[in-house]
Amino acid sequence: MVVRLEELVVIMDQEFALENFGKDPAFSRFLPDAYDSVLFDWKSQFEFPFTQRFNGLLIKGSPFVHRIFLAVFPTDHVLEHFIEKSSEGDLLFMHHPLLMECGDPRGRWGKGFVPIKENWIRGIKDKKLSVYTCHVPLDYHSSLGTSAAIARILNAEIVDGLVPIHVNKTPLILICHIDPTDTNSLIHSLKQIFEIPYVDFDGQKHPDIQKIAIVAGCGDKVHWMEAAEKKGVHAYITGEIHCHIDNAYGREKFSAMKEFASTTSMSLIGVSHSASEYLVKKTLIKEWLEHTIGIETVLIPQEKWWL
Ligand SMILES: [Zn+2]
Repeated sequence: MVVRLEELVVIMDQEFALENFGKDPAFSRFLPDAYDSVLFDWKSQFEFPFTQRFNGLLIKGSPFVHRIFLAVFPTDHVLEHFIEKSSEGDLLFMHHPLLMECGDPRGRWGKGFVPIKENWIRGIKDKKLSVYTCHVPLDYHSSLGTSAAIARILNAEIVDGLVPIHVNKTPLILICHIDPTDTNSLIHSLKQIFEIPYVDFDGQKHPDIQKIAIVAGCGDKVHWMEAAEKKGVHAYITGEIHCHIDNAYGREKFSAMKEFASTTSMSLIGVSHSASEYLVKKTLIKEWLEHTIGIETVLIPQEKWWL
């Protein structure tokens, strides 16, 4: 089915309550810094409402959308694939408007936020394609959220939460009951679900896990983990348990977490920032777009999750 871009944007903006969320607290800071650092005139190149809210339609293409491509970060591979495989009017829906290199726990540390290269932006515009991104409102969405997707695939029952947002009182961190398992079995399942070669692990191995905390993305905050532990959580599942960003900020966060990990009784499990946030695209968002909106989707998994 072909959908008018204008209508699609209204539906998506409403579903993710962009108006209520206002400015994205993360990308309203990181996006200007990243694009200013490469002297890219983001204010005139991106759609005006996006430059105010930092969520929503980033680049506007032709008025009719045939397919929606789903990805998480704008890596070179993802953008090249989108430009090559799409046809005029198609839309790319991502979580981040910037690539975030969080680093590989068994390899190279990351650069942090990296802007989209200008040649990809030109390629997207030349082909009259559209790009839409949605960050914090997607993380907090109760039925289409990044952490909600992880809870659903693990068959976890949400019983409590932490870090609620004022907009809709939804928690960022989901506290859930799961069928009893142990750390090694849980890691085995997570590797399969997220299609990753290894997890990042710290803390203690647990023989009887029944209560877990789930937070997609950067859950590597000591005070969040402490709060989860107080709620009786046995395993804390997130994208990043250790920051591997190669700068002073990253190294400081890394050592603070190492110190906490040596004292916790929880299993701390990282499945990579990007894979933890891609899952929702592969499952809940794909289903919603295909069944509720009735539009064809195309998945673009990242070439490497630990990057
Ligand atoms: Zn993220």
